[in-house]
Amino acid sequence: MTLPNCPECKSEYTYEDGNMLVCPMCAYEWSPEDASGAEEEKVYRDANGNVLQDGDTVSVIKDLKVKGSSSTLKQGTRVKNIRLVDGDHNIDCKIDGFGAMKLKSEFVKKI
Ligand SMILES: [Zn+2]
Repeated sequence: MTLPNCPECKSEYTYEDGNMLVCPMCAYEWSPEDASGAEEEKVYRDANGNVLQDGDTVSVIKDLKVKGSSSTLKQGTRVKNIRLVDGDHNIDCKIDGFGAMKLKSEFVKKI
């Protein structure tokens, strides 16, 4: 494993000290987690502001028109085992009678 260069002075002579990385050239210390540039984990919230997670069961809070179908997803429809994805419609799911579809988290609430 190669250690990242110092973010302050770009020195490559960095070393690990416990959970921190240390630069001997400019004495800068930092946490490798901060420096990794890891994307902040996205948080998805339902209509009530509760955090949603993969596998949650939610219910639809209002009638929703289904794209490419004449049917409407009725308020109160239960959606099991949701999967959160990036995008405008951030819930991937399968609904009985509809099949695979995407929903917006703001139109559901966690059960
Ligand atoms: Zn440095």
